[in-house]
Amino acid sequence: MFDGGKEEYAQKRNARLIGVREASILHEQLNLANRVRGNRRPIDIFKIISKDLKVPLLFKDLDNLEGICLKDPSPGILINSKKLLSRQRFTAAHELGHHRMGHGNSLDQEIFQIVDEDREDRPLEEVSANWFAHSFLFPRWLYTIQGRGLGIKTKEDAIDPNNVYQLSLRMGASYEATIYGLRSNNIISPHDVTNLKKVKPINLKKKLFRGEYDPDPRVDVWKMTESDHDRDFDLKEGDYVRLELPSRSPMGYTWGFKDSCFEENLDIIHDFYLISSSKNLIGGREKVAGLLKYRGPGVFKLELEERRSWLRSKKVIKNFSTNLTINKANENGIPSFMKPQILS
Ligand SMILES: [Zn+2]
Repeated sequence: MFDGGKEEYAQKRNARLIGVREASILHEQLNLANRVRGNRRPIDIFKIISKDLKVPLLFKDLDNLEGICLKDPSPGILINSKKLLSRQRFTAAHELGHHRMGHGNSLDQEIFQIVDEDREDRPLEEVSANWFAHSFLFPRWLYTIQGRGLGIKTKEDAIDPNNVYQLSLRMGASYEATIYGLRSNNIISPHDVTNLKKVKPINLKKKLFRGEYDPDPRVDVWKMTESDHDRDFDLKEGDYVRLELPSRSPMGYTWGFKDSCFEENLDIIHDFYLISSSKNLIGGREKVAGLLKYRGPGVFKLELEERRSWLRSKKVIKNFSTNLTINKANENGIPSFMKPQILS
């Protein structure tokens, strides 16, 4: 009896399992869940490759290739410097998969940033590398950590495209890869995948501006709330921050930026404006939103205070601060965080 289909299915399934298993072994070796719980950042794939694992990593204009993993004569990983950051991150993880699983030299022309069993018409090593990348960058525990930070608690929250877009930024993933990660971790259904994919991220971004605005499709708009106080974030050059904070404006309090912020190339795109209020409550809480952006790359401390603006009183009733690292796009050469070490 001809049994090719069944055998092929078993081989693909095995290839997936090898990738998933290798990713979880490396998570353990690097104690990654604890590291991420401490800083609540996305998996820092470039640092893991070049610092933890000491595999040479280079960014280069690779023309039509996404990435390269070299085995002989000496190991190394090359990533196309012309691609978007979320794509470079996935490619780096995919190439790391080839490296960890001992595959030969590999030149990748096209890497799907998703894992979809129906679209796996590829060699087995590619299936393994892709499942490695996906499991390594988007494990269930990372969804839990980042989802909690965004206040995602219920299934309804998890299928709200606005939340999925914000989650994608905190996972360091594209919107589409985040959807497939929610699916592969059994958080949402195939039907939810279809619905979420109908929404275009550019339209979600537009909603975060006040009034009509056409953002550059490559920039992102990070929503930050009270629960992000004291957190660190990694943004790309050109990204916006939308701050949504509770306010006691009926009682005469307003949010304002500390003077030190303006020495650091901060542009206020929209000053704080009211987005919701609960008038039926005495002294009810309102919510305000503001939009800002930093000029140029660097490390910035964003600090705000809520105080009575019409009194000369210094009394501050609430503080909000975050540390923002604005990263430059990866240029040709070694990753930027490695440069000071080599120069010194
Ligand atoms: Zn590959």
